[in-house]
Amino acid sequence: DQARAAKTRIALFDPRIYSELADTLLLTDQLYAALASKALQVWYQPKFSYRESRIISVEALVRWNHAERGYVSPQRFVQIAEETGAIRDLTTQVLHTCIADQGRLKSAGFDLDISINYSGRLLSDEAYNAHALNICDQAVGQICLEITETAVIEDPRIGLAAINTFVDRGLEISIDDFGTGLSSLAYLKQIPAHELKIDRSFIMEIESGQRDALLVRSAIDLAHGLGMKVTAEGVETAAAFTLLQSMGCDIAQGYGIGKPMPFGDLILFLNDFSGMSETKTQMPTYRN
Ligand code: C2E
Ligand code: MG
Ligand code: MG
Ligand code: MG
Repeated sequence: DQARAAKTRIALFDPRIYSELADTLLLTDQLYAALASKALQVWYQPKFSYRESRIISVEALVRWNHAERGYVSPQRFVQIAEETGAIRDLTTQVLHTCIADQGRLKSAGFDLDISINYSGRLLSDEAYNAHALNICDQAVGQICLEITETAVIEDPRIGLAAINTFVDRGLEISIDDFGTGLSSLAYLKQIPAHELKIDRSFIMEIESGQRDALLVRSAIDLAHGLGMKVTAEGVETAAAFTLLQSMGCDIAQGYGIGKPMPFGDLILFLNDFSGMSETKTQMPTYRN
């Protein structure tokens, strides 16, 4: 009996779980420090319009270059920020940087929309939403908020109210990672979104996967029927780029057009951009 009790205790204190937790706590502390010292960066990934045949917009993607770990995946630290409440500070910093950079782009002769990822967790925080709107009011160009579909569906009543306020105040709304959540057509009908972003998991095998191609084509038609434009994420190959164009997709985004890059590189990229190229398709690496 004593031996069994000891075993149970060991099972409860699984060292792997403990070290993972300890690591997350350490990272949480360091994230707070990074936010306090404004050490996070914002990188931009271009979005290409088929109709206008040019880069019409960029998506802001937050980056954390950690002193010991290198670049930490935003998937990981954004989740930490959401769970601790630091997402407000993070989002505020990203918004300010984007608005300043949009102004600098304009001075350099580039009128670009900027898409910013807005955590679904924030939608229920009315005071924060109002704060974010006040910051966005200072933008020299169009700001679009990318919100994942699951976030809206989690609490549709609150989510829709917030989104309606954003739209009334002149922001655009994009439904991010479309197809990965439990999509409800009823909610899709109610969200006054301007853009549907098809998740890259459907785009990556679009040339070989009959079913992916069918789903993407249907999503494009559905979005157009609802008055939204469509962005495909994860466009890596010329074949995918061309196929999406033939399906009536409006905007392409992915390593084949351009990877996320720091602001300085973006200006060079915009000056040099000459179209789709498969040489741009190198994968970045994150270390957690
Ligand atoms: P997301 O908004 O769906 O962003 C697209 C992700 O796909 C980005 O990853 C981008 O680097 C990556 N990507 C773009 N094109 C390609 C491609 O052709 N191939 C492949 N394999 N990947 C591609 P990233 O930068 O690691 O960001 C991951 C997620 O973190 C984002 O997904 C977004 O949900 C979140 N995130 C990033 N920045 C912010 C932010 O400022 N605020 C919030 N709340 N979330 C953010
Ligand atoms: Mg996004
Ligand atoms: Mg996405
Ligand atoms: Mg995503």
